[in-house]
Amino acid sequence: MAVTETLPDCIFCRIAGGGTGTPLVAESEHAVAFRDLHPQAPTHVLVVPRRHLAALREVEAGDAVLVADALGLAVEVARREGILDGGYRVLTNDGADAGQTVPHLHFHVLGGRPLHVPLG
Ligand code: 5GP
Ligand code: ZN
Repeated sequence: MAVTETLPDCIFCRIAGGGTGTPLVAESEHAVAFRDLHPQAPTHVLVVPRRHLAALREVEAGDAVLVADALGLAVEVARREGILDGGYRVLTNDGADAGQTVPHLHFHVLGGRPLHVPLG
């Protein structure tokens, strides 16, 4: 797949391409970061590769730079959000049982509350 390939009907491709007006909180060469529509924590940012990959399972050896860049952006987001020292979580859901709802690889950056304590 070409480095620039995106899908016109993919919501995260459209956001990454600036087509939705969604404000970016940070960006890097290979990824963009924006706030989740339904935050699960005081900081809940999605880090999304610019190139369309459906999920983690599609990452190949040649994508090492893309993945390192995206994870580096996740750390940068945590730093900017002021949650680096307190601790934060980066996760990706791959497939139905994991709860993946948007079929474009993305990393959730979560923090700003103790994540090991159940809500409620
Ligand atoms: P998943 O469940 O696939 O791991 O995560 C998808 C996330 O994307 C969900 O947390 C959902 O709230 C978020 N989301 C879905 N559509 C949009 C959107 O159009 N804009 C933003 N900012 N977040 C979205
Ligand atoms: Zn996409």
